[in-house]
Amino acid sequence: MMLVVSGITSLFQNRTASNHVVLDTAMHRVNKTKKKKMPTKFSRPQPPVFKKVEEERLHRKQRLAAAFRLFAKFEFSEGVAGHITARDPEFPDHFWMNPLGVDFGHIRVSDLILVNKQGEVVKGDQPVNQAAFSILSQIHQARPDVIATAHAHSIYGKAWSNLGRPLDPLTQDSCAFYEDHSVFHDYTGIVLDSSEGKRIAETLGRRKAVILRNHGLLTVGRSVDAAVWWFISLERSSQAQLLAEAAGQPQIIKHETARLAQTQVGTHSTGWFSFQPLYNRIVREEPDLVQ
Ligand SMILES: [Zn+2]
Repeated sequence: MMLVVSGITSLFQNRTASNHVVLDTAMHRVNKTKKKKMPTKFSRPQPPVFKKVEEERLHRKQRLAAAFRLFAKFEFSEGVAGHITARDPEFPDHFWMNPLGVDFGHIRVSDLILVNKQGEVVKGDQPVNQAAFSILSQIHQARPDVIATAHAHSIYGKAWSNLGRPLDPLTQDSCAFYEDHSVFHDYTGIVLDSSEGKRIAETLGRRKAVILRNHGLLTVGRSVDAAVWWFISLERSSQAQLLAEAAGQPQIIKHETARLAQTQVGTHSTGWFSFQPLYNRIVREEPDLVQ
């Protein structure tokens, strides 16, 4: 290293006088730049704002199709179970979702169906999952702030759901759900009327997630991005707690710290931001999803 440095020094020393001027000027510029005050606050990207409703609709549909591809990649699907919805930006009582019986790994933007509040398909020519509709329509109705919902029969989520307990704040990631998720205990089989959906929406309340006992996980968000990220994170937090409890006595983060961490890792913007690398990755790997 010293040899390299001394080599560079001697190289400079062999320069002509005019070159020294150039060098000095360049060094001066560098020093001036160094003196500039560095930004103290990291500003990260924020959710986009759209002028045209058509652009916002397309954006939501692209995120939705990408979310299904990611659910397939993470192996959250189980046969025809599971659904992710996105509220239409123009008709807020309509939402976009997956057609019944299409593998998550094959869904493209053009496959998504638009369902009205009666559960009728108004765009698309494939059937809707009526059981899903009966739950999701009630949540969209009860929570005007919710743009998207996500639900699947993922393995760790349904294993944890069986215990009928909320997740403990065991890790920084699981603190996102601290005092921000609930447990719905009243599983009564596949219900096609709206009564179970209403009760699930009541149990969810103002929170971001509900664990459906004997069934699986359900998350919501103010963007498709956030709802999907919360689902992925809740599934992995369920896995982490199952592993920790199987291995020994988990150490629970104390209340004040868990509450502080919740405000740091559990915000809408954090949920939205966490999804962005996954979206970019899946679009790069499976570009046909945007068709
Ligand atoms: Zn289900």
